[in-house]
Amino acid sequence: MTRSSERRTDGVADAYDVVVVGGGAGGMAAALVLGRVRRSVLVVDAGEPRNAPAAHMQGYPSRDGMPPGEFLAVVRAEVAGYGGEVLRDTVTEVVPDGTGEFDVVLAGGGRVHARRVVVATGLVDELPELPGVAERWGREVLHCPYCHGWEVRDGRIGVLYRAEAGVHQALLFSQLSSEVTLFLDGAELPGEERELIAAAGVRAVAGKLAGLVVEDDRLTGVRLADGEVHEASAFVVAPRMVPRDGVLTALGVRTQETPAGTFPQVDPTGLTSFPGVWAVGNATGAAEQVVNAAGAGYRAGTAVNMSLLEADLAVSRQRAEFASAGAGSGYGSGSGSGGA
Ligand SMILES: Cc1cc2nc3c(=O)[nH]c(=O)nc-3n(C[C@H](O)[C@H](O)[C@H](O)COP(=O)(O)OP(=O)(O)OC[C@H]3O[C@@H](n4cnc5c(N)ncnc54)[C@H](O)[C@@H]3O)c2cc1C
Repeated sequence: MTRSSERRTDGVADAYDVVVVGGGAGGMAAALVLGRVRRSVLVVDAGEPRNAPAAHMQGYPSRDGMPPGEFLAVVRAEVAGYGGEVLRDTVTEVVPDGTGEFDVVLAGGGRVHARRVVVATGLVDELPELPGVAERWGREVLHCPYCHGWEVRDGRIGVLYRAEAGVHQALLFSQLSSEVTLFLDGAELPGEERELIAAAGVRAVAGKLAGLVVEDDRLTGVRLADGEVHEASAFVVAPRMVPRDGVLTALGVRTQETPAGTFPQVDPTGLTSFPGVWAVGNATGAAEQVVNAAGAGYRAGTAVNMSLLEADLAVSRQRAEFASAGAGSGYGSGSGSGGA
């Protein structure tokens, strides 16, 4: 189906049925299903999946505990088995070509033609400013009880209070340990929230924070500005989650407000408001985990294939109509008056 199979010097063809922007779980699942129905697919991936700092990926049925890099290596091999290609590069722009298809511009130079585009670029976790948080992110500094809660169960878990997300997280982590402390960092906790955390057995510590205490490459505590140290084996924060949606916003896709901020709006198949462009995974919502991102990618892949099939059939039908009209008028039958 590829318009041109001519290879460029970097080994990438000039045109594909589908270019997938982003090679995490979402993008690779889309590529896998599309490859299996013989669509030509290029995945362009900048190589920074969101869970890269974590040693293990939890909660993916049959892959629970697998290192994230290993998971992606397996999927890449599966995609390659069906002819899908992966290019390490960054897409800077998706440019509509005026015919309902696209030119995908690469940071490394050049552009690739795509009949359809799937954007699976994930999101960026903007971490709260506090010494030690960025250094221990994905190790003992955590955000998600479903991803890491089991691994820190029964430990001393500190939670950073930055508005209501902190209370929410403290309540969730209180299911996993009876030693959860909410660090208010100088903020006031509203009375209702104070009652909630007390009911869950969570302690509150009022003082301003100085940072995390790390000894022998391991988090051991949380230091207050007055020097007091509270023991901690894990520290929970609520990052600001910002979708990597630059290529989508440049196309002017509709967005929607969510509790986690503004995200591109998609229909149940992942189709954005821009015809021919789908989006999946964390690029479309903060709550997506690896398994959801993969599910959304798979679903989008099937919808993309259907849209290509419909376009292919429309062209075939037009050709057939043109040929029969030509036969009726003598054109194309070899008996026409003009010949050439
Ligand atoms: C520390 C941490 C641990 C986590 N642990 C778990 C866990 O145990 N279990 C779980 O289910 N979830 C976990 N998550 C959540 C999980 O990482 C995400 O939900 C999942 O990675 C989303 O997949 P995705 O395909 O949407 O995006 P990603 O996996 O983030 O992949 C997006 C890809 O697109 C690339 N990209 C971005 N922009 C461009 C561009 N313009 N051009 C080309 N490529 C681009 C990126 O470099 C990246 O490779 C964790 C998250 C964090 C932060």
